[in-house]
Amino acid sequence: MIEVLSVASEAYPLIKTGGLADVAGALPGALAGHGVTMRTLLPGYPAVMNEAGGARVVGEFSDLFDGRARLLAGRFAGLDLIVLDAPHLYDRQGGPYAGPDGMDWPDNWKRFAALSWVAGRLALGVVDGYQPQVVHAHDWQAGLVPAYVKYGPSDRVKTVLTVHNLVFQGHFGPDVFSRLDLPPHAFYEGIEYYGGVGYLKAGLASADALTTVSPTYAREIRTPAFGAGLDGLLNARANVLHGITNGIDTEAWNPATDPALVQTYGPSTVHKRAANKAAVRERFGIDQSAGPLFSVVSRLTSQKGIDLIASNVDWLVSLGASLVVLGSGDATLEATLEAATIRHPGRVGMVKGYDESLSHLIQGGADAILIPSRFEPCGLTQLYGLRYGCVPVVSRVGGLADTVIDANEAAVDAGVATGLQFSPVSSEVLGEAIHRTVSLYGREKVWRKLQRRGMKSEVSWDGSAKRYADLYRSLLGLERDEPAGD
Ligand code: ADP
Repeated sequence: MIEVLSVASEAYPLIKTGGLADVAGALPGALAGHGVTMRTLLPGYPAVMNEAGGARVVGEFSDLFDGRARLLAGRFAGLDLIVLDAPHLYDRQGGPYAGPDGMDWPDNWKRFAALSWVAGRLALGVVDGYQPQVVHAHDWQAGLVPAYVKYGPSDRVKTVLTVHNLVFQGHFGPDVFSRLDLPPHAFYEGIEYYGGVGYLKAGLASADALTTVSPTYAREIRTPAFGAGLDGLLNARANVLHGITNGIDTEAWNPATDPALVQTYGPSTVHKRAANKAAVRERFGIDQSAGPLFSVVSRLTSQKGIDLIASNVDWLVSLGASLVVLGSGDATLEATLEAATIRHPGRVGMVKGYDESLSHLIQGGADAILIPSRFEPCGLTQLYGLRYGCVPVVSRVGGLADTVIDANEAAVDAGVATGLQFSPVSSEVLGEAIHRTVSLYGREKVWRKLQRRGMKSEVSWDGSAKRYADLYRSLLGLERDEPAGD
């Protein structure tokens, strides 16, 4: 077995704000079948301490970035955890990164430097006899981990950094550097970023291997258009940069057993989705007679191309279709979509907010899910759409490009299409894709085939877990984990 320490600022089901939590929560279980034991280091936020508060103390620090801290170890919520209990850093109401007012915590530099520094100690094997062989850090919050290992007293341990979204970089002022307990030369060797300190940049410069969450995004981030200022560095490190597509939890997302559905179904009983469609329409006030039902389940932001959907609503309705939107985010986008619901009563409906159960019902009932993202590291909603026969209509970027097979005529004839892709990302081209979707929906046999084929797509964690396991093995100079006879 290979021992890997995962370092993350969130992990499902304990604490979640986005896809990072899903990955950090799912990987340990998925890796177990590939010869990897993964423990996870998490900050002791209140939600984590509620579970782990009484756990075994395996380490203590009298002064960890201006306060006392302890390390607690145990198995909670299905995860083998090491929790950094540092009340001065994490015991507060609000989110993992921002207070109740939505503003970033002003001491985030310290909160996540502490997490990363502690990971560096764990890498040394000085805590509780635990010695990881690989430390796998996630996003800017753990970006300093590879630097602490590289510049620490021993760099025997290999490091991997995974980028879930390159836009979030952990950029702080230059004064922070002297507090980080790193040697002065480290500053210009990779930690300096536009005159200040870049936590993600530090990780990108220092890790033995870099990964991101789809092969296309791995290529895109090496270009100025998607590189968020780091494309130069990513090009310099292209030989150690890999794209490994995320999977989904196929038990929680299973249309054959999903309790959130009015009617469960499988690929051979896809017609049963009609009962769910009726329920979605009822919930959103959509006329039962209206034609194809498009849906959106998303943060309402420009990244997700929600403005392009807003500018296509009248067109979509004119084609005889209807639209339901579940989400919240940018106030202007929310207002624009609300105005559309008033313009088109019975044809456009919206529920503002986050509703896990309703998101399942939508996937189980809507005909198509619109995802016109400007960039998308991996994306999960198209994977849920595939699994539920809710045909994904996606822009050809990042993980969307890698997971959906466009229903062009060749793919339809070959029976391999699973959704629709469009490019470039513009309102006009999205409009064409919506038109194309409505036409395909009208070809009932073709549409059913599209749904069935999508439902059979491989979206589980298994393939991705094997790739991570192979990466750890290659870093350690070990043989790959090939199944017998492969
Ligand atoms: P991102 O992490 O960039 O927001 P992803 O597609 O990777 O986008 O993941 C979004 C996740 O959040 C999916 O699981 C999606 O179903 C869920 N989600 C987004 N908005 C809502 C909402 N309003 N209600 C319920 N679930 C939502």
